[in-house]
Amino acid sequence: MINFRLDRFLTLHFFNRIVKKQSSVDNDRIPILMYHSISDEKETSHPYYHVNTSQAVFDAHMRYLHENNYAVISLADLKSSFNTKNLFQHVVITFDDGLYDFLTNAFPILKKYNFGATVFLPTGFIHNARLSFNGRKCLTWNEVRKLSSEGINFGSHTVTHPQLSNLSTKGIENEIKLSKYRIEDETGITVKSFSCPYAFPENKEFGITLRTLLEECGYTSGVTTRIGTARKADDVFFQSRLPANSADDILLFRAKLEGAYDWLSQPQRFIKRFKGK
Ligand SMILES: [Zn+2]
Repeated sequence: MINFRLDRFLTLHFFNRIVKKQSSVDNDRIPILMYHSISDEKETSHPYYHVNTSQAVFDAHMRYLHENNYAVISLADLKSSFNTKNLFQHVVITFDDGLYDFLTNAFPILKKYNFGATVFLPTGFIHNARLSFNGRKCLTWNEVRKLSSEGINFGSHTVTHPQLSNLSTKGIENEIKLSKYRIEDETGITVKSFSCPYAFPENKEFGITLRTLLEECGYTSGVTTRIGTARKADDVFFQSRLPANSADDILLFRAKLEGAYDWLSQPQRFIKRFKGK
């Protein structure tokens, strides 16, 4: 009973129906998928918190997108894509933390379906020799350059992966600026997107500071861990994403893509306020 998926149950048996009824009018959303590690490593927490997606499940997700004619677009193209028709068939694929298993386990599958993706790097953990982040191996700069030459986009996930709202304005600026410059130096490609580490602090003042700094540094888009599909009206720097992991069978994956998981953004905000984060 400990692993009862209340989120899954409500998504599939309640919100799925509401979304289906609305779908003819609700066409201003684009799902941005958020993956972390693509590995078979088991996790002991509740499946809602899992960050590992097995290769088999990841392949099934990508196959679903392929078979259902989803067009994988880049974060940079997201805003302009809102003006096109058949929005439900657009999707963005992102990976946080710059992990080595992106190269070994995710990239071959993406390549098979000819899908692009954006990988967000915490640059303090990316070196010429391999380092680890939270016990998981990270990419090296050589691998980043190789993936970049194969069309993978790289964005910033700060330098040290801190909770940004705990830092001074100068501290935040260093994290977002130095990481951007480092990736640009290593790949020769301008970095335009940013992924905010950890639960996004629902604090208005912090949001204004971060937004101003991102804009000043030359970023044009950003994503968070706020749950939901990205909407046309959302701030381009703080877009919501759909977390995906091994527990997402195709039924739940499909429901997430179609907006039936978006309801979770409200309890997520409520819990953050309750915890004072
Ligand atoms: Zn992260």
